[in-house]
Amino acid sequence: MAETQGRLAAALNNMVHALMMLDAERRVVFCNRQMHEMFGFDPDIVRPGTTMDQVIAHSIAVGNFPGRGFEDVSREIERMFVTGKRAAFQRQLPNGRTIAAYWSPIACGGWVCTYEDISVRVSATARATHLASHDPLTGLPNRRKLHEAMLTAWPQTGNGFNLLCLEIDRFQAICDTCGHRAGDVLLQHVAKRLAGCMRGGDLVAHLGGASFALLQFNAAAPEAATSLADRVRETMQPPVTVEGRLVLATVSVGIAAPASAVPGVSPQSGAEEMLRQATLALHRAAADGGGHAQHYAPDMDAAAQTRHQLEHDLRGALAAGQFELHYQPLVSLSQRRVTGFEALLRWRHPERGLVSPGVFIPLAEELGLIAAIGAWALRTACLEATTWPDDVRVAVNLSPLQFAAGNGPALPVIVAQVLAETGLPGYRLELEITESVRLQDNAHTLAMLHSLRDLGAVIALDDFGTGYSSLSYLRCFPFDKLKIDQSFVRELPATGSIAIVRAVIALGASLGMSIVAEGVETSAQLAILAGETCDEIQGYLLSCPQPAAEVARLLREAPERLAA
Ligand code: C2E
Ligand code: MG
Ligand code: MG
Repeated sequence: MAETQGRLAAALNNMVHALMMLDAERRVVFCNRQMHEMFGFDPDIVRPGTTMDQVIAHSIAVGNFPGRGFEDVSREIERMFVTGKRAAFQRQLPNGRTIAAYWSPIACGGWVCTYEDISVRVSATARATHLASHDPLTGLPNRRKLHEAMLTAWPQTGNGFNLLCLEIDRFQAICDTCGHRAGDVLLQHVAKRLAGCMRGGDLVAHLGGASFALLQFNAAAPEAATSLADRVRETMQPPVTVEGRLVLATVSVGIAAPASAVPGVSPQSGAEEMLRQATLALHRAAADGGGHAQHYAPDMDAAAQTRHQLEHDLRGALAAGQFELHYQPLVSLSQRRVTGFEALLRWRHPERGLVSPGVFIPLAEELGLIAAIGAWALRTACLEATTWPDDVRVAVNLSPLQFAAGNGPALPVIVAQVLAETGLPGYRLELEITESVRLQDNAHTLAMLHSLRDLGAVIALDDFGTGYSSLSYLRCFPFDKLKIDQSFVRELPATGSIAIVRAVIALGASLGMSIVAEGVETSAQLAILAGETCDEIQGYLLSCPQPAAEVARLLREAPERLAA
């Protein structure tokens, strides 16, 4: 018997849970080691024979019920005993541990009370809940939490809140220039600044990437959203120091006011509709150059629909063979002959007809299709050029994104491959890089430009004067040629434009670059450019871009137009 009891006691003392048994008179029958450890009980005080009142007094004495007296605690415990039923409850101990308690009456009278330390589980659950609803980088509520907040607020406020969707302008470019770690630091700074713009009760969420959202409560009027957007843009004005560099981060803002959500819909679809509207407005604000706010307007739906269809069609255009290249001659003023043709991409859309590259190139860049389309244009242009005279070059436009590190082979590898496949000598290829979008001025891009030049290709800076025409740009990259943008040529012979054109030609000459004037339409413009010793010209005066079959004719006829 004693042996059996000893075994039982050993088993109870080694179990994970704390355990205390009481008899019908609520005296302790057994109290295991975990029970003493969990509650800090003295084994000489809480032991077989101790009454429940003594246990309570001891528990209070060792600090398990801070601020509570004997009467209070024993009344609460008594309430559980009198039910005569199993009870389960949780308690937080003063040491911060969370305890789950189970009290069960036993058939012969008395109780078994067990206690389990569930602190780890509780904090893991709390952490998981927090993680599921917050962004780990910024610590802000995430998209899910934003959605929940909208659903919760809807019935109480009758949707009396504004939703603002925000995006950091050109965030990808900032990451490419300063690195992804810097991007993360910038997001944290922006999150802090946004939080500083909000009033108590409002919500700021990080939706992922460079996207944030603000929920503005108790402010149904659209004007309130506008002034919040103004505050946000103001707070973003000072540059942020990221990894030792000063970064200017502007944001675009799209606003959906309550009035713009469809009335009478369920909170679920109403919240989704508001998010959709704010996102549409954001896209419009970003497309307008960034740095400002835009309220949702119904005409954005139609524009989005058209764009959606165009996106869909563009994805299939390459495989469907809908692209073609048109060629526009470049004529040397001193040699009075066609020195090259610029290959200009056209999309022959089955319903829309010819779509301008001004429309679909930015879209292709956004959709990640530009690498494939650009490679197609390069291969097609080089192949076509092999049928032209040896002293006629082909110029191919490159998107800055073709320099970015993607999954496919690097640009110089593609160009080398195309030259090898088509048999076109490298010196007959010109590569035009637009100045209107900034190339990432890092060692990677510079190395690529050098590799392209090593293949013999001529590197031209296109649209010079339209974008980042900083002199440092010209100093950093090894351009062979400058193409003066047509916007300056168009203004000729206005005095200011002559001065600009003259300055660019002098600048080019001093840096050893040859100069092309784009968009020459009149003989008056031609005469000025010839007087300023511009090397080559290109424009409707000579010919607009023509299909490949016209090249032979243009070789003969374009120079004749110089005399006209
Ligand atoms: P760009 O490279 O600066 O090409 C010159 C643009 O000016 C062409 O427009 C051409 O048709 C137009 N142009 C030529 N002469 C005149 C003129 O006398 N007056 C006027 N008003 N315009 C003239 P297009 O073909 O619409 O191309 C627009 C832009 O699209 C190009 O500008 C280039 O940046 C881009 N693009 C075209 N093809 C490609 C391509 O294969 N790849 C890439 N990445 N971009 C391309
Ligand atoms: Mg060009
Ligand atoms: Mg151009």
